[in-house]
Parts: sequence; C-alpha cells; structure tokens
Amino acid sequence: MPIRSLPSELIDQIAAGEVIERPASVLKELVENSLDAGARRIEIDVEQGGAALIRVRDDGAGIAADELALAVQRHATSKIAALADLEAIVTLGFRGEALPSIGSVARLRIVSRTAEAGAAAAIEVDGGSVAATRPAAHPPGTTVEVRELFFNVPARRKFLRSTATEFAQIAGLVERLALARPAVAFRLRHGERVVLDLPPATDASGELRRLESLLGAEFRAAALPLEASSGPVALRGWIGAPRGARAQPDRQYFFVNGRAVRDKLLASAVRQGYRDVLYGGRHPVYVLHLSLDPGLVDVNAHPQKLEVRFRDNRQVHAFVAREIERALAAGPTAAAACARGVPRVTPPPPPVVAQRALHWPTLAASAASVREPEPGTPPELAASIPAADPARATPAAEPLGEAIAQLHGIYILAQNAAGLVIVDAHAAHERVLYERLKAAQAGAAPSQQLLAPITVELAEHEVDVVLESAGEFERAGFALERLSPTSLVVRAVPALLAREPLPELLRGVLADLATGGGTGHIEEAGYRLLATLACRSAIHAGRRLTVPEMNALLRQMEATERADQCNHGRPTWTRVTLVELDQLFLRGR
Ligand code: ADP
Ligand code: MG
Repeated sequence: MPIRSLPSELIDQIAAGEVIERPASVLKELVENSLDAGARRIEIDVEQGGAALIRVRDDGAGIAADELALAVQRHATSKIAALADLEAIVTLGFRGEALPSIGSVARLRIVSRTAEAGAAAAIEVDGGSVAATRPAAHPPGTTVEVRELFFNVPARRKFLRSTATEFAQIAGLVERLALARPAVAFRLRHGERVVLDLPPATDASGELRRLESLLGAEFRAAALPLEASSGPVALRGWIGAPRGARAQPDRQYFFVNGRAVRDKLLASAVRQGYRDVLYGGRHPVYVLHLSLDPGLVDVNAHPQKLEVRFRDNRQVHAFVAREIERALAAGPTAAAACARGVPRVTPPPPPVVAQRALHWPTLAASAASVREPEPGTPPELAASIPAADPARATPAAEPLGEAIAQLHGIYILAQNAAGLVIVDAHAAHERVLYERLKAAQAGAAPSQQLLAPITVELAEHEVDVVLESAGEFERAGFALERLSPTSLVVRAVPALLAREPLPELLRGVLADLATGGGTGHIEEAGYRLLATLACRSAIHAGRRLTVPEMNALLRQMEATERADQCNHGRPTWTRVTLVELDQLFLRGR
C-alpha cells in the first residue's frame, strides 16, 4: 500500500480507541466537561446501560454558538493555550479530544447557551460528519447527548457487556465523581429509575451525608476525619476504620486536585499508613483529597489521566503515610483494632466458640471439637475431626508437620522431620474451602434452608448484576430473589456456609462479582463464584489460632487437592529444612 494521509474521521476513530472504551468512558468525559464548566448541578440520563443513550445536562458556563463547531474539532480546547499552561493544569480536560472522538463513534448532539447569549444553539455530529450549527432552545448551560455508541464500529460494539454490567460501571463512575465534588448536585437516571439523587453539600455535615449515601452508614459511623497540610501540599478527607477493611481494594477513592486517580505511589503511602493496624490482604476504605500547586504534579502522564506524576515523590509519599498513621493513632478505632490483636489468655466459654464458628465454619468447628464436643456442629463437619482418629500418626510425622506457633497473625509455623514448615493460613484455608465447595457442588443438594430468610440491602445496580448470575448462585446452593429494587431475600445458602454472617458475606461476594475482582483467571463462571465465596469465608490475617486449630488446618491441607497454592495462584506454604537453617548459622553437622 502506498503511504497516504488518513482521512480525518479515521484519525478521530483511532483517537477514540484510546479514551472511549465503553459507555462509562463517554460519561466520564462529558461529566468532566460539565465540572470544568463550573456546573453546580449535573443531571445524567442513561438508557440501556448507556449503549442507547447517554445524556448529560449541566448549568455550567455554556458554549458560545460560534464556538460549537470548534468544540467538536480535534485538538480544539478552551482550557490551555500554551505550553506553560500544560505545566499547571487546573481543569480535568485539556487535550481537546473527547468530543471529536465521541462524535466519530456515535451520534452526538450538543445544545448549549452561555449566560450572556439571548438564545441557545445546537450542533450534531453523526459518526464523524458534522452538521451546521442551528438555533435551539435551552437555558444557560449545556446538554450533550450521545446515542448509539459504536453504531459505526461493530468491532467495538461487540465488546460491550450486558446492560447491567455497563450500567454498574456507570454507577460506579458517578459515585466516584460525586465523592470528588461534594458541592455539586448529581442526579443519575437509568431509563425511568432515579438511581442517585444527591443534593449539593454546603458544609462538612452535608459532605458526611453524601459519604453515607455512597459508602454506607457503617463507613460514616466509624470514619476518621483527616485534615493536614505541609508546605504546598494539603490532605483532607475520611479514612475508614481498620475493622471496616475489605477483601478487595474497591472502595478507595483518592483525588488529586479534584481528579480521581489510581496511583501506585499514593496507594502505597496509604498502605504504609495503615500497616500497624491492618494485616496484609485487607484493604481499607477511604476518600482522600490531595491538593497541591498544579505546577508540582503532572496529570498528562496517562491517556485516561488515571496516573499522575509528582515533582517530589518522596515528600508526597511520606506526608500521606504519616498523616494517615497519625489519624489512625488518634482515632478510637485504632485502639479497638489493637485490642483485638491481644492474645487470648483464658479459653472462651462454649457459646463464644460457637460465635467464632460463625466466621469460619469448617476450621473452627473441627478445632472446637478437639477441645470439647460442640453440640451445634453439623455432622458433615464433625466427621472431619482429625484428632479423633487414634490410628493416625503423630502430627510431626505428617507431611506438613506439627504446628508450634503463629507468626504475626498470618503464618503458621510447624515442624516436620525435615525442618520448618511455614503456612499462609488465609491462603491455605481459602484453597481448602474452595475445593470443598467444588466437591459439594458436584455432589447432591449442597443447599441448606434458612429458618429465618435474610434480607440483604444492596445498590440497585448490584442487585441487577446478582440476578444476572442467578443460575450460578442457585448451582452453588443459594436460593435468592428480589424483594425490592434494592434488596434481595436469601432463603437458602450452601450448607458449608450456613453459619457465616450472611449479609456481610453476600455483600462482599456481590461486590467482587460486580467488579470482576481478583479471581478472573478461574475461567468457569460457576467456579468464580465459589472461589469468591472461599476467599470471603476463609480466616483472615490477624486472627489468633490455637494449636489444635492450626493442626486441623494442616491436616485439611494434606487431604485437599491443589492445596499448594491459593485460588489466586500464590503459594500456601513453604519450608526451610534443617540443612538450610544450619547453613544460615554456619553450623556444621
Ligand atoms: P477538553 O475538555 O479537553 O477541552 P473536549 O473535547 O472535551 O476537550 O471539549 C472541547 C471544548 O468544548 C472544551 O474545551 C470546552 O470549551 C467545550 N465544552 C465541552 N463541554 C462543555 C460543557 N459541558 N460546558 C461548557 N463547555 C464545554
Ligand atoms: Mg473534555
């Protein structure tokens, strides 16, 4: 093929590939434009998960009629004019690419009016072809409508997921933007349903109300406020109590100068701030706003502007970590979290043992039975008590040896004939539960009816996603149905989980499913659910284990297939032989 210049529509379509991936990415660009225009109220209408229609209406500055044609032209922007502006970006947009990109892969219509103009004007772009600007009716502000996304790019259209999934992405995005800008009112509608309707927050208590509607009452109740500054850098927001931490990092909101970022440096600073109160593998919930002189941060480092670069990485990292540590130390929750880590000196009375069994049924039930017969233990669990079998070899002779201690609430230390065995208790238990769930699913009737059905409150879009996987849930042993737009009633659960704190477990599982989190490489969809359940139900780091409990887990591992790695592919155990230990100490034998 000879060399030739590409037609400009094709150039726009190629550029669109970078930023416009799905309906949520269109919406992100449109709402960011509204925020850049100083909107105080943003109304969003979506149809069919955004594939059919995305409409954003704002009361911002508007676009002058004679600039509408420019707004949909590539590399045309009102936000920067010279290289110097690029070094201190104060707006969310600046590349002048979004509207032309969207217009090249959808049917775009913009109606806008500035405060000074006597009338509004409209422009349409249909799959890249721009029509003439025409007079229209609209109050000051802008409405942008995007219909039939990817109608002319079938290859892209094929990649759109179900309506529920695309809408879940949109809802997640709007939640994030609403957390970023509490002073702006947001309303989100999907078809006829109003999904979010958030009044503007004018003070701290208004802001807390918004946090509560987006992150739940538990977060609000235990969140610690944070407000600090150091030179040109300021940090404010709310950080979640360690006990509210989650199995996946899905509720972590970091905004840099009002822009949502997923930045490794900041994530690591937060982790460091939490390190004394949160054991590995759990992810805190937080909403943090970092503000600094725009000249000290480069936001032009990523096509979707999700990553940023700081002029002084070390300073920002140290500041964020230190302030989080300080806020946690000051808060009442930090003390509570420490108290929970204190070793138990007296064995708890039987009812307490039963309580603990609520959290990790299999392991706790078998270990409890080692100490004393536990009347409530279901027969299928009681049958797996290893210590009740007198014909069994002594623990030290078993492959994984005899438990001798627990290290930092995470690792089980055991000795066998060859030396030291180190087991990651959570990872190992997760694998054991997963294999059991799979076996239960393959066999008959793994389900157990609940005496009292449980109602779980969720966001409406989460309920939609769950019902989409209703078949998977049923095969795994759940019986559930929709009770109201935002609640599910659960009438039966997998027998193995009958003693779990269900609302909590379900919430977590559903959040994992909605975000496709973590277990994606276990391909079969049914197994994904089981893996999520297993991860959710497995004992968590920080939980003290007794020696019989640890030995019970080791024996279960030996009896479990693929026990050498957890469902995420990480090893569950390793060993250090006596020979290796001797070498460490230069000890000849
Ligand atoms: P960018 O945001 O990078 O400048 P866009 O293609 O998103 O590029 O928008 C082009 C221009 O159109 C913006 O610079 C702005 O002047 C104008 N514009 C877009 N949306 C709005 C809006 N909702 N209100 C006012 N002006 C807008
Ligand atoms: Mg823009």
